[in-house]
Amino acid sequence: MTVVTVSAHSLYGLDNLPYGVYSVDGSAPRVATRLGDTVVDLAGLLGDEVFARPSLNAFMGQGYEKWVRVRAEIRDRLAQAVPDEVLFPLADVTLHLPVEVADYVDFYASEHHASNLGRLFRPENPDPLTPNWKHLPIGYHGRAGTIVVSGTGIVRPSGQRRAPSDDAPSFGPSTRLDIEAELGFIVGTGSALGEPIPVEEAERHLFGVVLFNDWSARDIQAWEYVPLGPNLGKSFASTIAPWVVPLLALQEAKVPAPQQHPQPLPYLAAEEPWGLDVDLEVAWNGEVVTRPPYREMYWSPAQMLAHLTVNGASTRTGDLFASGTISGPGKDTRGAFIELTWGGTEPVHVAGETRTFLEDGDEVVLTASAPGAGGSRIGFGEARGRILPATRG
Ligand code: CA
Repeated sequence: MTVVTVSAHSLYGLDNLPYGVYSVDGSAPRVATRLGDTVVDLAGLLGDEVFARPSLNAFMGQGYEKWVRVRAEIRDRLAQAVPDEVLFPLADVTLHLPVEVADYVDFYASEHHASNLGRLFRPENPDPLTPNWKHLPIGYHGRAGTIVVSGTGIVRPSGQRRAPSDDAPSFGPSTRLDIEAELGFIVGTGSALGEPIPVEEAERHLFGVVLFNDWSARDIQAWEYVPLGPNLGKSFASTIAPWVVPLLALQEAKVPAPQQHPQPLPYLAAEEPWGLDVDLEVAWNGEVVTRPPYREMYWSPAQMLAHLTVNGASTRTGDLFASGTISGPGKDTRGAFIELTWGGTEPVHVAGETRTFLEDGDEVVLTASAPGAGGSRIGFGEARGRILPATRG
């Protein structure tokens, strides 16, 4: 028996307890939590077979009260000595996609990002925001099946693109491959067809939060997105961290959401709208190039879920909606390289080299932390991906 000890400075103390899926030496993947740099097998720890599965979905589907109970049980058990056979060094395990992703929607909730993209994509418009932007959280349906776990190689996509100076479209590997630093929100328990989720009830449906990198081919996107929105410029891959931080662990990270003007319609109005004080970092080839602040996001997670269902669309366990690129007001807080390099016109220096967009072999790592209880910080693992050469083009 062992008592797992953790430094007071760890991002993975008892206030965090994220959920993930691990295997060791080719074993069947099972659900685990993480304490410090120790991975804890939850079926073994708690004697609950819902965790002896290759995804979190069955557990998430058991609902809010179960999430609260299990979290308290894990904390109780890990405060004492536990059997050695449920403990594994983090370095010895393989981490898998934690969730069987059902439907995936990507929003566009940062006013700074939407304004920057408006200036870059539609310079002829005096207002960088579209007329609907402050009335509803804009989003589009993405491709759930290409959401991959951290560490998965990202093959450079090929596709059609047409620069403004070109007479006709051409086909080939994207030359403007980019990232979008986001947070993803995972629906634990869904809702029935025809029954919208009110903004005040969103929290009972939202299981947890993951780091999310929405890889984006800007040249493909710019040519294809009118009038139905992004498609192949985004659908080739999105990377999530292997650890899902429960919303229950982020109570200290809740902050009042930014003031909204004009006042949103009643179905989007919360009595106490909350955002999350999560600080992200984006490392490009090992060098931190930007620090996007989630607290700046205009539309809250609860508003996004309320909007997603207000037409009566059902939701289900494993649905994932992402926030959209997180950008703050300053250049060093922009969450996409198209903003950081202003459409590629202002190259940046990264680890001794000059960059505008991603080159083959480049690696991007997203990390984040948020306030926990008693002055601690809560970590979100990492969303890591390296660009591999195009296979067609
Ligand atoms: Ca996005």
